[in-house]
Amino acid sequence: MARVARTVVVETPPLPRKLFRVFVELEGMYRNMVEQLTLYAVREGVSSFTKLKALKYRELRGLYQHLPSHYAYTACQDASARVRGFLRLKRLGLAKKEYPEIRKVSIWLDDHLWKPGGLTSIKIATHEGWVTVEFNSHRQYWRYINRGWRLASEARVKLDKRNRQLIINLMFVKEVGMYEPKGHLSVDVNENNVTILVDGTAYLLKTDIEKLVLGYYYRRKRIQEKYDKLYDVRSGAKRKVMRRLKERKKKNDIRWKTANIIVRAAYERQYAIVLEKLDRRPANNMIKRIRDEQLRHRIYQASFRGIQKAIDEVARKYGVPVVYVNPKNTSKTCPIHNAPINYGNGSRIGRCSRGGELWHRDVVACWNLLFKTRLGDGSNAPSLGASPLDGSPVPLGSTAAGEPTVIARDLWARWKSLEATLNNPKKHGTTL
Ligand SMILES: [Zn+2]
Repeated sequence: MARVARTVVVETPPLPRKLFRVFVELEGMYRNMVEQLTLYAVREGVSSFTKLKALKYRELRGLYQHLPSHYAYTACQDASARVRGFLRLKRLGLAKKEYPEIRKVSIWLDDHLWKPGGLTSIKIATHEGWVTVEFNSHRQYWRYINRGWRLASEARVKLDKRNRQLIINLMFVKEVGMYEPKGHLSVDVNENNVTILVDGTAYLLKTDIEKLVLGYYYRRKRIQEKYDKLYDVRSGAKRKVMRRLKERKKKNDIRWKTANIIVRAAYERQYAIVLEKLDRRPANNMIKRIRDEQLRHRIYQASFRGIQKAIDEVARKYGVPVVYVNPKNTSKTCPIHNAPINYGNGSRIGRCSRGGELWHRDVVACWNLLFKTRLGDGSNAPSLGASPLDGSPVPLGSTAAGEPTVIARDLWARWKSLEATLNNPKKHGTTL
């Protein structure tokens, strides 16, 4: 069984001034706690929630006596999450400041600090006692209510001061059963494409994420230069143009569509998905041509990590098992001859040093991920015995060995299944 969680955002109508003031005060105190804790935790190098709570809980209780005691608890959780994120960026050399900035605050609530007050209102514990607020429900909310999801004990409240509204993040959870996999579908994620191996055939879905990130990077730079010359550095006009770029939306779009196609292909066959176990830091051979460290990190996050996370999340929803395999050397060794493959200068096509056949780098990675899983190496998947390629390199053919079917983004990105995309004969080719 796996726990699947989804956040649903609901808003209250504008609240009476007096009532809203209670929440403004609450947020102020909560923010103070988080700021204080974050400073302390960074200074002392404490990133564990348990440790932070052990060290600071008593002090906080003394300082904020009229606040319900569990705010000290959730503030510690909030602060330690911020500190962990900050310390990670710091380790990667990506954080310039000494301390993380606490800009946006949402108040973290646990089961002692809120409870549902019927289907369209919640009760929140404040320094003025329990306060009930109604919220506007919407179709998405009812869908979760009606489809067997239940409310988790965590919730977050954000204040919209301009409209005197509360924005409430509710979390719905559901337990989903995983099936026993009948086979495996391996996935190799790259900065510009995702290659999958299904029943002996490799498909390369073009994502062009690196190109997208780079394209936006240069566009943003141009806009910045142009507007900074004309207006104030903090000009609203610039921000408006920047917002119109919608980089995040486009990246998310690609990410979720890729994940859906892959998970559905696995689900239809009742297969498990095999993914590379990723390191926190981009491996040297990944996107090393990008010099700018921050930019490289962004591309890595968006393509490798972002796509994997999406696959993992969609897989949970469908109950598709996911297996993580150590990616070491997966693209360097021939899956048939177990011999090194020689890649020409920067080429993604290489020649096997023993058999002399040609391979596409990403296809090699997929085959080797599959074998590692089947041989029970670095995974908990059932071992299926020896390599199915032994003695019969049939799946790879003789001429186009290890060459994937390349599918352009505008083809697969229309929410189609892999089959539907492939059945469109004239529109995809195998040229690389
Ligand atoms: Zn070979």
